[in-house]
Amino acid sequence: MSDDFFTTTPLESFPPVDQWDDWMEYDAASWPRKVERRFQLVPTTCFNCESGCGLFAYVDKDSGEIRKLEGNPHHPGSRGKNCAKGPATLNQVNDPGRILYPLKRVGPRGSGKFERTTWDEVLDTFAGRIRAAIQEKRLTEVMYHVGRPGQDGYMDRVLQSWGVDGHNSHTNVCSAAARLGYALWSGADRPSPDHEKAKFMLLLSSHLETGHYFVPHAQRIMNAKMAGAKLCAVDIRLSNTASMADYWLAPHPGTESTLLLAMAHVLVREKMHDTAFLREWTDWRGFLEARQPGAAPEFSAFLDELQAWLAHATPEAAESECGVSAAIIETVAREIGAAGSAFATHVWRNAAAGNLGGWQVARCLELLVVLVGAVGTPGGTNLNTQDKFVPPPFLKPEPQKVWNELLYPREYPLAHHEMSFLLPHFLEDGRGVVDVYFTRVYNPVWTNPDGMLWEKVLQDESKIRLHAALTPVWSETAQYADYVLPMGLATERHDLMSYETHAAQWISFRQPVQRVARERMGETFEWTYEANPGEVWEEDEFWIALSWRIDPDGSLGVRKYYESPYRPGERITVEEYYRWTFENSIPGLPEAAQKQGLTPLEYMRKFGAFEVKKDTYRGHARELSPEEMAGAEVEEATGDVRKGGKLVGIIAEGKARTGFNTPSRRLEIHSQTMVDWNWPEHALPASIETHIHHRSMDPARGEFALIPTFRLPTLIHTRSANAKWLYEISNTNPVWIHPDDAGRMGVATSDLLRVTTRIGYFVNRAWVTEGVRPGVVACSHHLGRWRLFDNTGTDRWASAKVCKEEVAPGRFRFRRVEDIRPFESKDPDSQRIWWTDGGVHMNFTFPVQPDPVSGMHCWHQRVTVEPAHPDDRYADVEVDTGESMKVYREWMAQTRPAPGPGGLRRPEWFTRAVRPAPEAYRIDGG
Ligand code: SF4
Repeated sequence: MSDDFFTTTPLESFPPVDQWDDWMEYDAASWPRKVERRFQLVPTTCFNCESGCGLFAYVDKDSGEIRKLEGNPHHPGSRGKNCAKGPATLNQVNDPGRILYPLKRVGPRGSGKFERTTWDEVLDTFAGRIRAAIQEKRLTEVMYHVGRPGQDGYMDRVLQSWGVDGHNSHTNVCSAAARLGYALWSGADRPSPDHEKAKFMLLLSSHLETGHYFVPHAQRIMNAKMAGAKLCAVDIRLSNTASMADYWLAPHPGTESTLLLAMAHVLVREKMHDTAFLREWTDWRGFLEARQPGAAPEFSAFLDELQAWLAHATPEAAESECGVSAAIIETVAREIGAAGSAFATHVWRNAAAGNLGGWQVARCLELLVVLVGAVGTPGGTNLNTQDKFVPPPFLKPEPQKVWNELLYPREYPLAHHEMSFLLPHFLEDGRGVVDVYFTRVYNPVWTNPDGMLWEKVLQDESKIRLHAALTPVWSETAQYADYVLPMGLATERHDLMSYETHAAQWISFRQPVQRVARERMGETFEWTYEANPGEVWEEDEFWIALSWRIDPDGSLGVRKYYESPYRPGERITVEEYYRWTFENSIPGLPEAAQKQGLTPLEYMRKFGAFEVKKDTYRGHARELSPEEMAGAEVEEATGDVRKGGKLVGIIAEGKARTGFNTPSRRLEIHSQTMVDWNWPEHALPASIETHIHHRSMDPARGEFALIPTFRLPTLIHTRSANAKWLYEISNTNPVWIHPDDAGRMGVATSDLLRVTTRIGYFVNRAWVTEGVRPGVVACSHHLGRWRLFDNTGTDRWASAKVCKEEVAPGRFRFRRVEDIRPFESKDPDSQRIWWTDGGVHMNFTFPVQPDPVSGMHCWHQRVTVEPAHPDDRYADVEVDTGESMKVYREWMAQTRPAPGPGGLRRPEWFTRAVRPAPEAYRIDGG
């Protein structure tokens, strides 16, 4: 944290630093009496979305209870601000239905019968199974499947210390498409818009209200707007962001790439592009060679070819394809051109996550950034790799030498992340088994498409032999586990996080605030669960304890990674893990701590966050050092800098510089990788016809495109079910339908609709609104939580009770038997529940639709919409599992499998989650 940080982001009022150990406030509940309460203020990091905002917990010095949570003004990303979900962490801590002790299944899987067990028994059971898998070289049978990571790199180290290839994530139902589109340009898989200094912002998402990096982005977008910047939202819905925008463009879903290419056409046609940037930083030679093989590599020829390539993408053609007027497209393009290098933009889920070929949306959007030279500039759009800081851990294990084809199957060599949502389909197909399966803050039965198949496989002990759900809260998935292991909330665990929220690098420390507060008062603890509610543990310590038991004598080579760097031969503590990191891996932190008279660990315990670097612009322009240049050769004609035959940099702006992390070390308009891996038709930014294209819809049959990808700003996918304040605000997810469509069908707001997908249907209420295009319906996926039992399954604040029936062989219906209603608990508010609805679980009815290139699940659905049938009841959901396997096979048939060049499973320059050793990349060697 720089010195001036304390003065640049003040809140109107916040307790002064010197009173954080003993802060007095009057008890609000005792008003009008003045009853003093004394608090310790302990910082931590919110765990309710990916933004990693700072929180301060007010820990009552008398009772040890957390009384409230507020923003941390010293956090560089969130700057003291939070959304509703941050303070609602308090609900989660005090939820009367939360799981407080480790539980073990006592009935059949899915019977809802569990009993309390001990952490000792849990550790012995799992350590024995994992030890056997390691000894027997079954290194692809241990799997850790994460929903919300909440940490950077910790689990990579754990899994690699075991030698397994077992990291699975949720990314291919989230952001894998956009990541591929960005990575093909620069090697960095996420954008980092510098909104605060932007002159023009173009958002293909709902960032201002609910999307990625919500609070850190929203405040910067609004600051920019107040300083005169303009905002354009491209969204099929009138989102909160669109309602605040200067321009709202609502193209037909899946035509966004065409819209963006038309803007590129205008920029080039009107010479608003940054010629110098294109010459210095793009692989224009590669583009020219691909378009005109053998042509002389002249930059002027490239400019001509660029114009020729984009000639077809006229605004008029886009108007016909997208349903957005050519005049508006031209106006927005000119705004982008006028903003130049101060053009900030972002796509994350939205169109990229919804459509077949959605990854090209990111590719086309970045084309605009590149054309105006806004890469890594003030007010521009940086690479995530410049704005995120992940410290190296102590004693990093060797990469695993195996490749798990349940994670990265041959059909998807370019999939940006693991093919996680196809795991049950692969297991059904007999492609492997999972011996030990950890789901961690992950609820695929409810969140993923085709949840019914997850439900089926999770109950099959021959396919998933031992399953532990590591979770702070009950969920539709946890109810099918063998062990339900309570893991800490934002105030009950250690983690270190960093995100690319703006043009800076920062770290944020999550800590168990009650343990920290009690340690400040002189108590000592061996494990965090001794200070947490019940025996709620934290994962960091769980993995240390488990790894220690896997290899008690060190003979497997695992134990050494868990020995203390300060007490040789003894087991590391979580405090020592972070102490070492803060002392050795965070540039500037030891010096900043010293200025405050603190150790680095004390500094992070006190302030909770640290700004590692400011103004992280133009990282690609870093000059190569004399050491890096020693022995290097410069190719005169191209400006390539090579060392030992390897391209290590480029000459740009007159100097040898690092460039980008691509094969050419330049921004790649043309991707030779796409050609080499059998997708030559997608080598350039282009539009791919979506599976829900408007011209392929048959309105006479009642066909619509269903848009299910938007968030409600107050909810989290799974974990908000234990936050009463949030459910009191948001508890329905009706189907948005345009008045023209509703009128034609004779439907009014609140009427029941039956929405039918390829594999089933759901019944939900209509919301008739002009906030969505005709021919399109929309429904938020954040609601519709359910439980089969009274006290297990999902929290009662949020879930309706349902019954499951097999209505035909392989065809299941879930029907609501009890609304959300008041219940008895130690929290009197549970008797005051007034909402009854809770929404509809539509994801159950979605077949898997894996994009054949990016591997991303294409969320948008082709549906028919009609008034509900006479026997339909609100929230009915019916699914045909036989049909779902059929759809899975249809999409798999579109893939173009590995091997690629050199017998590789995947391009070596692509990143991969928990990257294995090079030999594992070869199909004959992994
Ligand atoms: S945006 Fe809200 S939920 Fe997300 S980290 Fe920040 S406060 Fe928490």
